[in-house]
Amino acid sequence: MIELPVRSLLVVVSAPSGGGKTTLCERLLAEFHQMVYSVSCTTRQPRDGEIDGTDYYFISEEEFERRVQAGEFVEHARVHGHRYGTLRRFIERGFASGRDVLMDIDVQGAAQIRGRLASLPPHDPLRRGFVDVFIAPPSIDVLRKRLHLRGKDADAVIERRVQQAEKELEQWRAYQYLIVNDRLDASYDALRAIIVAEHHRLLRDAD
Ligand code: 5GP
Repeated sequence: MIELPVRSLLVVVSAPSGGGKTTLCERLLAEFHQMVYSVSCTTRQPRDGEIDGTDYYFISEEEFERRVQAGEFVEHARVHGHRYGTLRRFIERGFASGRDVLMDIDVQGAAQIRGRLASLPPHDPLRRGFVDVFIAPPSIDVLRKRLHLRGKDADAVIERRVQQAEKELEQWRAYQYLIVNDRLDASYDALRAIIVAEHHRLLRDAD
């Protein structure tokens, strides 16, 4: 009997806000029960319906800085004027229990993680499990419309996010996978296919 080697995945998903990423991540978590979501810390205010400890840990600037100094983050960045950071313990716990860890982070955070992993030995489980996916809106106009439809941010905030998105979109080439989110169902099929395929991938020594 041949058994599939088990490998935990460190799945990094980046997308300009309004790119449909939250819905796609929620669907992944609903389908793949071995996957845990890495709840980030942020200094921004909660939006309507967001829950502390589920969507984010909403913390003050001072608390954020204290955690930076204590080395609690594997990466952290300033996005749209607020600070965001991934807690080291989420990733460690997820991997220790044989789970996949899903991270929704911006392009700066993804670059930091890539840089860190590159300095680890090739057989390190984090490095072996790393998968990054960029989810792009079909166009900037579509993104702007989606942000307005979502109705969660003021016009000025939306314009800032659109400008930021234009910059972030230039980074898609740094990722292993690209999904252009035209239709949500098709995008989800692509995303789940990536996860399934990665679990079936046999890594060579050179990988
Ligand atoms: P939002 O405020 O719309 O929830 O997120 C804004 C941006 O911050 C998104 O691009 C999201 O991926 C990113 N983000 C959320 N958590 C983290 C994190 O822990 N680290 C980094 N670098 N970016 C994050």
